[in-house]
Amino acid sequence: MKVTDHIKQAKGETLFSFEIIPPVKGRSIQELYDNIDPLMEFNPPFIDVTTSREEFVYIDRDGLLDKKLTRMRPGTLGICASIKHKYDVDTVPHVLCGGFTKEETEYLLVDCHYLGIDNVMALRGDAMKEEKYFAPTSGGHRYASDLVNQIQALNQGNYLHEVIETDNCADFCIGVAGYPEKHMEAPSLKSDLKRLKQKVELGADYVVTQMFFDNKKYFEFVKEARKMGIDVPIIPGIKPIAVKRHLQLLPQVFRVDIPEDLIDAVEACKNNKEVRQVGVEWCIQQSKELKEAGVPVLHYYSMGKSDNIKAIAKAIF
Ligand code: FAD
Repeated sequence: MKVTDHIKQAKGETLFSFEIIPPVKGRSIQELYDNIDPLMEFNPPFIDVTTSREEFVYIDRDGLLDKKLTRMRPGTLGICASIKHKYDVDTVPHVLCGGFTKEETEYLLVDCHYLGIDNVMALRGDAMKEEKYFAPTSGGHRYASDLVNQIQALNQGNYLHEVIETDNCADFCIGVAGYPEKHMEAPSLKSDLKRLKQKVELGADYVVTQMFFDNKKYFEFVKEARKMGIDVPIIPGIKPIAVKRHLQLLPQVFRVDIPEDLIDAVEACKNNKEVRQVGVEWCIQQSKELKEAGVPVLHYYSMGKSDNIKAIAKAIF
């Protein structure tokens, strides 16, 4: 079922959902299940599964370094299929521009359709680790909007190199990313919102936001988006701080601000167990306020261990 239909069916009740990251290559999928199991009592209608970009590794061959391309966390689609099968829940694979040709994307979408996956999250992806700026893959897309375009075309039976008239067309519900504190490369929030609007005009059905720690940023973002005519659901994505290092890491990687009160509370912690508790409490307060404001879904970035997400969900749902 489509994410947007889950939202409609909830009739204004806030839904619970979360995002998971595939395990590092060679690890067991059981670890993933062990983290999903405790969250299933909160009835997530859908679970997102991220896709990681490929990266370079250097293999020592008798003193000479051989540069090879690899993907450390493959398996997004397989994980989506296995979670869907095991828990009877909708899954949302993240589909990236970076690292994929348009043809590879088409094959991935065809596989999604065969597997009964109704939703995809269309994303550009970040620059590769060794690169400063995002460079489109040869034969791939430059912007998420181009990807939305391809998915919508496929929904009409317009494949890359042929038009196929069929009564078995895919009908993907498409999610895209939005940034309450603007995307790091955008010159201004307004220009970033214009790009978001373009994704919606091309066929995106809903937006999931980057994490934020100050709800005002989300409320302001939604207000500006509505003013510009972006009328699809805007799902807040939030994450509890879990370790002290997040104070530096999250602003650096995601370009998000951390409120002074939260910084003070984390800095006062004696160890990461205390930090985890502070993160949970902050996220509960954020969740309460967002739920009271009537957000359609509270979407949590689980990033590995789910005990903290469970504690938050228990207090909210
Ligand atoms: P876009 O919408 O293409 O925007 C990228 C930048 O280009 C923005 O600054 C935008 O303003 C600008 N722009 C857009 N269109 C144009 C245009 N036509 N001309 C000029 N400028 C333009 N990354 C992963 O690698 N894997 C994941 O699974 C993943 N999941 C994510 C989930 C969510 C909810 C979010 C918020 C992010 C996720 N990301 C993921 C990170 C995302 O890939 C990066 O933030 C990436 O840098 C931008 O992706 P985007 O889809 O927002 O790109």
